[in-house]
Amino acid sequence: MLSDNIFLKIINKSIPARVIHEDDQCIAFHDINAQAPVHVLIIPRKVIPTHADVTEEDRALLGHLHLVAAQLATKLGIGEGYRLVVNCKEPAGQTVPHLHLHLLGGRNFSWPPG
Ligand code: 5GP
Repeated sequence: MLSDNIFLKIINKSIPARVIHEDDQCIAFHDINAQAPVHVLIIPRKVIPTHADVTEEDRALLGHLHLVAAQLATKLGIGEGYRLVVNCKEPAGQTVPHLHLHLLGGRNFSWPPG
């Protein structure tokens, strides 16, 4: 269920995270419960609760998140193949109400996803 926005606490540095990228628009850090050898979360500083809440105003920000994801994939050695995931709302598995990209790599993935 969508619970506390723990990611705001990571942005505000009130709880620790293994941060690997930070800029004026976003922050990226290793997932605490990794589902692959590489599992990074890329989150905007702006609070957008779910993917369904994006607006025209967020167009450039969303592009930026994807650029950062591609750069991090190369930096983390998974440029040969990786998966990007956005879970939108509870039926899709979203647990934190702050839009985020999951960047996963380092193993083979099956399709369809579970
Ligand atoms: P969602 O299920 O909302 O798509 O993804 C939330 C992700 O955040 C999960 O993969 C979960 O493991 C991760 N997560 C939840 N709390 C923390 C935390 O305190 N630190 C880190 N690094 N990841 C977290």
